[in-house]
Amino acid sequence: MTEDPDAGRIAHHRPPSGMASPRFSGVASFMRLPILAPAEAPGRIDIGLVGIPFDGATTNRPGARLGPRGIREASTGTRARNAATGIAPYDLAACADLGDVCINPIDVAATAARIEAFYAPLAAAGIVPLSVGGDHFVTYPVLRALGRDRPLGLVHIDAHSDTDDGQYDGSRLTHGTPFRRAIEDGVLDPGRMIQIGLRGSVDAADELDWARAQGVRIVPMDEVAMRGLPAVAAEARAVIGAGPAYLSFDIDALDPAYAPGTGTPEMGGFTSREALFLVRGLSGLDFVGADLVEVAPPLDPSGITALAGATLAFEILCLLAQAVAARRN
Ligand code: MN
Ligand code: MN
Repeated sequence: MTEDPDAGRIAHHRPPSGMASPRFSGVASFMRLPILAPAEAPGRIDIGLVGIPFDGATTNRPGARLGPRGIREASTGTRARNAATGIAPYDLAACADLGDVCINPIDVAATAARIEAFYAPLAAAGIVPLSVGGDHFVTYPVLRALGRDRPLGLVHIDAHSDTDDGQYDGSRLTHGTPFRRAIEDGVLDPGRMIQIGLRGSVDAADELDWARAQGVRIVPMDEVAMRGLPAVAAEARAVIGAGPAYLSFDIDALDPAYAPGTGTPEMGGFTSREALFLVRGLSGLDFVGADLVEVAPPLDPSGITALAGATLAFEILCLLAQAVAARRN
């Protein structure tokens, strides 16, 4: 660390060691990171962790508005180094908890505008956001801010495609529509987009036709099981290629045995270990942002879902830090 010219800057934006101050103590920020006002972030950090406590676009069971709170608490248990990959994210990138977006809990469109306005200056300053939802709708305004100048590739891990056109009398802004809206707006490149883990019952036989017609690669859960995780991860890397990309992880990709605390659980999903392995398999992609959504603490009495979300968020943070370091070199 002391050899690094950025050491001073980084040293001020990393969690305290659990050996110096117990991990269960202190104010529960994401990963025990320092809390920094978003306006003070430009020039001082590389990665900002952001909570988006909104579940007003949920069509099934609500509760994800409490996801940031639950994951902050669960994330205080994470340490500084990834034992599996050797990545030490805080050595590679200066990180801070930027707090929560101030959402409007009863207005989806107003919330979308607030989210986009929160992320636009971060994107302009080159700060990579790792967001914690909230329902999956929140990804749409984040993508609008991050993909404004060029469409992004997307690795989307989820039990659901979230490419519906409209739901309930045609409402276009729900947690079932974010990726359709983002493709329509030109902030996602559907030809560099892969959805992994889809399963469960559907409303209509043609539900995925629109996404496939745009060129989105869909890998249903049964295909993941048949081909194996290394092959699917390799395909994801090939689909995304060298350009800028975003990772969106819906916790309901996990089996309800491992993540029951979510609004729309579907049987037959990833184990916790498989999910971590899949994320690790995305190493090397040029990620410019990521999110972890749909953890609903009111449906998660044991805290297992928040723990899964926090652990995956750390795994994703390692990918982001790796991408930041690669762009710096
Ligand atoms: Mn989703
Ligand atoms: Mn889902």
